[in-house]
Amino acid sequence: MKYQNNIEFALRMDQEDPLADYRHQFYFPKHDDGKETIYLCGNSLGLQPKTAESYIKAVLDDWKHLGVKGHFEGENPFATYHEDLGKKMASIVGAKKEEVVAMNSLTVNLHLMMVTFYRPEGKRRKIVIEKNAFPSDQYAVKSQLEFHGYDPDETLIEIEPREGEDVLRTEDITDLIIREGNEIALIMLSGLNYYTGQAYDMKAITKAGHHMGCQVGFDLAHGAGNLKLSLHDWGVDFAVWCTYKYMNSGPGGIAGCFVHSKHVSNKDLPRFTGWWGNKKETRFLMDDTFDPIEGAEGWQMSNETVLSMAALKASLEIFDQVGMDKLVEKSKKLTGYLEFLIDELKSDRIQVITPRDPEARGAQLSIRVLNSDKSLFKAISEKGVIADWREPDVIRIAPAPVYNNFNDVYRFVEILKGLVV
Ligand SMILES: *Cc1c(COP(=O)(O)O)cnc(C)c1O
Repeated sequence: MKYQNNIEFALRMDQEDPLADYRHQFYFPKHDDGKETIYLCGNSLGLQPKTAESYIKAVLDDWKHLGVKGHFEGENPFATYHEDLGKKMASIVGAKKEEVVAMNSLTVNLHLMMVTFYRPEGKRRKIVIEKNAFPSDQYAVKSQLEFHGYDPDETLIEIEPREGEDVLRTEDITDLIIREGNEIALIMLSGLNYYTGQAYDMKAITKAGHHMGCQVGFDLAHGAGNLKLSLHDWGVDFAVWCTYKYMNSGPGGIAGCFVHSKHVSNKDLPRFTGWWGNKKETRFLMDDTFDPIEGAEGWQMSNETVLSMAALKASLEIFDQVGMDKLVEKSKKLTGYLEFLIDELKSDRIQVITPRDPEARGAQLSIRVLNSDKSLFKAISEKGVIADWREPDVIRIAPAPVYNNFNDVYRFVEILKGLVV
């Protein structure tokens, strides 16, 4: 793609963009001056679909008019409300429909998955994560090790980039797996690192892990709804994600969970159970022996928060119309344009640490500000840009392809230019 550094080019790209109109299906927050902000923070909290309110209202109405009958009556009965969401998310992450369920929150799902898939035995008891993984993942993994009676200092392997490098090399990850695989029970990496914006080669990592007899799971908080994923074909054992980032389900929205079909019928797998994971036909017989649903739904514990799922439904219908192929196609152009314009600045105050290879990233570029100077972030914020700052020295910029456009990216870099050049 040949980019140009001028507003006419950005506007022409928007005119030619087949997804351009989806922008109007979302609310953009306003800046102090009453104008729309340049919102580049969909990696943290996605924008509100305009339909979310009416979907939530519909649940309130069913509850108001039907009471308990709303569980099985009305247009979208409460008891089965999650089913369509699981199906739609399955197509987003490249899974079969029985492999995905909408439930709980991300960290809770991560724990539930580790109950099932972290099964230390003999010498094989270590877990591999990224050094500087998102804190919640660090806490969850360490607490699981401690729960099994192990000292994380001895059983946690934290993989880090080579000296002087910002991102991991795939061969360093797979070499480590091959080298230490006999002692590794579980490999649990993020699919896309929240800090650097690096997307990992999940297929290669899964293959290496399985070759060495390890279980492989991914935290897709920043991958789901952002990258083109093929969780089923890659053979990933489990994955978890939140939906309030790229999937726009609102603060604290219901999360997603993937369990590969090769595991879903295995009733011997340990799991923490609850009545909602029991087969639907017998759930209400109130029997006291658990008979799990043969699918990711078999890991559900409770009946889910329908009000919150309504917002996710609003967003997933948009994703369903767009489709991940088109979304990713636009995303690559949009993030590529951001990269091009930042390069044009030739500034020595900032440096992009996200990989240059479009296959090794998603919709985010992480900009390192030299000397950890947070004043630059404050200055862009004052000018109406919504992005985020991650200690110690990174501004994350995420043009979300479902609602951002080339004009947003152009205007953002113009603001940056006024400050760093
Ligand atoms: C956003 C994020 C979380 C947040 O966890 P919640 O349980 O949704 O609060 C966890 N891990 C990663 C990698 C994240 O990016």
